Amino acid sequence: RRAEFAAMRDLPSVTADDQRVELMVNAGLREDAQALDMVGADGIGLFRTEFQFLVSATLPQREKQQRLYKDVLDAAGDRPVIFRTVDIGGDKALPYMQRDDDEELEDNPAMGWRALRLALDRDGLMKAQARALLEAAAGKVLHVMFPMVSEPWEYEQARALVEHQRLWLHERKKKLPIAVKYGAMLEVPALAEVLDILLPRLDFLSIGTNDLTQFLFAADRAHPRLAERYDWLSIAILRFLDRVVRTCADYQVPVGVCGEMGGRTLEAMALVGLGIRRLSITPASVGPVKAMIRAVDAAELQALMRELLDGRARDIRASLTQWAVERN
Ligand code: PEP
Ligand code: MG
Repeated sequence: RRAEFAAMRDLPSVTADDQRVELMVNAGLREDAQALDMVGADGIGLFRTEFQFLVSATLPQREKQQRLYKDVLDAAGDRPVIFRTVDIGGDKALPYMQRDDDEELEDNPAMGWRALRLALDRDGLMKAQARALLEAAAGKVLHVMFPMVSEPWEYEQARALVEHQRLWLHERKKKLPIAVKYGAMLEVPALAEVLDILLPRLDFLSIGTNDLTQFLFAADRAHPRLAERYDWLSIAILRFLDRVVRTCADYQVPVGVCGEMGGRTLEAMALVGLGIRRLSITPASVGPVKAMIRAVDAAELQALMRELLDGRARDIRASLTQWAVERN
């Protein structure tokens, strides 16, 4: 099977009925960029910039951040890299970052002062990162994505912050990206209710199913007893995703999935059936997921998902498995 997936590397990621599904990888380290060529991916759909912060003994200076971003962009060549601004705080606490006593005490760190919430309050960190990203992507297209957006104003504020840095650099005659594309992660369920407000302002949306599932089911994603309890192929999640995909289609905003869900073959199949055409997954999953994509007929799959979402199937996982086996 390993040889089979290696052979898969240079084949296009299209379904039997010619629907293209972009396959990107999740990354966080300089070395991860090399995986792009190894597995034949279309780009980096999620670059977790906080990794550099988490592995450093001191706060990485702007120049150091910039060097990393530039190296990753160079390794990616013509392929897009979506940089997610730092998702720190909560359980990803930085030992060198000063926090006040009341900030230390969090009963629910995953729902606490983290990611964009922290970045907007401590905007020095965000400004430095924005400049590092803008300068690293000089002459190229920069993709920036904000994590844990809960309300449209947070996205607006984050975007304005980056735009402000762009203007600042422009005034100083610095070389800039040829374009900046802005995206938000959909991880907080509340955001799905205000997509009509958010989407007209977005270049792309990326669904983070790890956090989204945790918040939809109110189930800690790291809790061993809960890890397997709620199925990604449950009707609640699939209906939720279905609505989001449809709304994005209405607004013609590209939508992808960058949570671990998309790296599992059966789950990825369901996502293609819901109309998802961009997955960002762990590099090791690219081969198996591409093999699945090339084997399925997207139109048939879409019809099957419609039936399953009606709620008559008691076990969606079993139904999808049976469908896949019958067609192989
Ligand atoms: C997610 O929440 O699905 C996601 C991709 O982000 P992370 O796993 O880094 O929280
Ligand atoms: Mg997340």
